[in-house]
Amino acid sequence: MTTELARAESLIATIPDFPEAGIQFRDITPLFADGPALRAVVDAVTRPFAGSFDVVAGVEARGFLLAGAIANAAGVGLIPIRKAGKLPRPAASITYDLEYGTDKLEAAQDLPAGTRVLLVDDILATGGTLRAGQQLLEQLGYTLAGTAVLMELVDLDGQQVAGPVHTLFEV
Ligand code: AMP
Repeated sequence: MTTELARAESLIATIPDFPEAGIQFRDITPLFADGPALRAVVDAVTRPFAGSFDVVAGVEARGFLLAGAIANAAGVGLIPIRKAGKLPRPAASITYDLEYGTDKLEAAQDLPAGTRVLLVDDILATGGTLRAGQQLLEQLGYTLAGTAVLMELVDLDGQQVAGPVHTLFEV
């Protein structure tokens, strides 16, 4: 790992018991606030997929930040994968299980079937969110070019659910 990436990783804060007791929340906002660190993670998370994707998709909300930065750096467009009820013209939707209850993701169809999509989010935990994102992109007829996150919570084994997921940092 480069010095700049190691510094970027050190900027991710761990907040105990947020949003509920027992959760170690990994807060990426200090990393995003630092220009060189943001550039380093954008480069590193995208590098294995260079030339293999036409557009990047990010999951609401922190995935949007990463997707926006990647899209600009790579000179491609982006697809926002939104929580239910936010899009005026959702073309696909998927309901998936959370630890407690369910959630729903939606996306519009703004690009033709066969478009190669790189799917990104900030954290891989159980993998349920990214798996749902992958299935949503499939529903739209897109080709998954790859899935990538900044940080993987390895104990939760999200790779079993959504893998292979390219990850920069592991905790
Ligand atoms: P999962 O579907 O379990 O893989 O959860 C992934 C989503 O929840 C991602 O969008 C993360 O932003 C968020 N998330 C899950 N666990 C954490 C955590 N410990 N710290 C920060 N975000 C988390």
